[in-house]
Amino acid sequence: MAKFESPDFYNLDEMLSEDERNVRDTVRDFTDSNVLPVIEEHYEKGTFPTELIPKLGELGVLGATLPEEYGCAGMNNIAYGLINQELERGDSGIRSFASVQSALVMYPIYAYGSDEQKKKWLPELASARAIGCFGLTEPDFGSNPAGMITRAVKDGKEWVLNGAKMWITNGNMSDVAVVWAKTGKGDDPKSIRGFLVEKGMPGYDVREQHHKGSLRASNTSELFFTDVRVPEENMFPKAEGLKGPLGCLTQARYGIAWGALGAAMACFDLARQYAAERIVFGKPLAAHQTTQHKLAKMLTEITKGQLMAWHLGKLKDAGKMNHFQVSMAKMNNVGIALDVARVAREILGANGISLEYHVIRHMCNLESVKTYEGTNDVHSLAIGQHITGISAFA
Ligand code: FAD
Repeated sequence: MAKFESPDFYNLDEMLSEDERNVRDTVRDFTDSNVLPVIEEHYEKGTFPTELIPKLGELGVLGATLPEEYGCAGMNNIAYGLINQELERGDSGIRSFASVQSALVMYPIYAYGSDEQKKKWLPELASARAIGCFGLTEPDFGSNPAGMITRAVKDGKEWVLNGAKMWITNGNMSDVAVVWAKTGKGDDPKSIRGFLVEKGMPGYDVREQHHKGSLRASNTSELFFTDVRVPEENMFPKAEGLKGPLGCLTQARYGIAWGALGAAMACFDLARQYAAERIVFGKPLAAHQTTQHKLAKMLTEITKGQLMAWHLGKLKDAGKMNHFQVSMAKMNNVGIALDVARVAREILGANGISLEYHVIRHMCNLESVKTYEGTNDVHSLAIGQHITGISAFA
């Protein structure tokens, strides 16, 4: 397969530091040499390429923004964004693995955890000797996690956990699950706390979810808790209420805003190459006006998305980013990536539906990416509330 070129129409490359470019190029090479050769087969079988997990640890991309004292790379947020972009240029499932580990497991341990929790888990998770997952969604509550049913009740020095989580990325492969549960007597979301549930704890069961038509090269599981006795020291001391899980989602959504661009860039480049080579009605597809219009529109949207992600990264590094800005970037960049993937699929004609040409895989993956970490509806409602001061959620 030909190597993808990555579009950079506004020379954003010049805005990156040498270190940022080096990180980007290293992860780009990793994706070209390790992900692209195996991903089609894994996607078709519906398996995660577990053989890549130690390599992701060696590469230093897990928890990349966290401090070196925990075995992490201490990178800035632009470098972290570029990691996501380059992993998702390969497959959204690979980026999802790294996003969950970094933003949804390592971040809350770092931000909300005790010193013991940090020392125990962060170096293991950074090196990929341990894998983590994040359990927020339940069978009856996705967009509205405040309604969660999972509950932890204190009994002596332990919490007794009961409930179920669904659609959990990395679930079946995980050594530790960050699980959110209500701890109050009533239904108040202010009582939500986070727990580190470890593989093998009695009463903790995990079942892989099959038959997915999207994100097939990713492990998705249900988690079940039946009277799981979680030691007191496994609860996060510094997270109370929905702010805990939502703080993690802001981190992950930031990475997705970059990651989706990687998928879009791959689809754009595949469509550009195909249109140059495919002859229709006596001349290359690329020489027809309608194709040029499609390619121009795709590149325009990718370029706008790149500028948005880059500036959001600058705001994040300066400590000035807010979660509404993240909602906008996640919503926009995943939305345009899906549009780009759909038009690229159209340009490839029948070959567009063949997994050999990658585009259909990206297109189907992006349906999951649009759904998880807040659907586009949810992000537009959050932005709408910010604009008008009126909540239209309920
Ligand atoms: P619902 O909340 O039932 O929404 C259904 C529809 O209603 C959507 O279109 C939604 O936009 C719309 N809607 C919802 N509220 C409103 C409203 N107020 N007004 C108008 N429309 C509305 N979760 C985790 O906790 N951890 C994970 O690791 C994880 N990984 C995932 C991996 C995959 C592949 C997928 C598909 C999902 C994953 N999820 C995970 C779950 C994901 O976050 C939820 O699916 C998502 O939050 C949406 O919830 P739902 O599916 O229950 O949809």
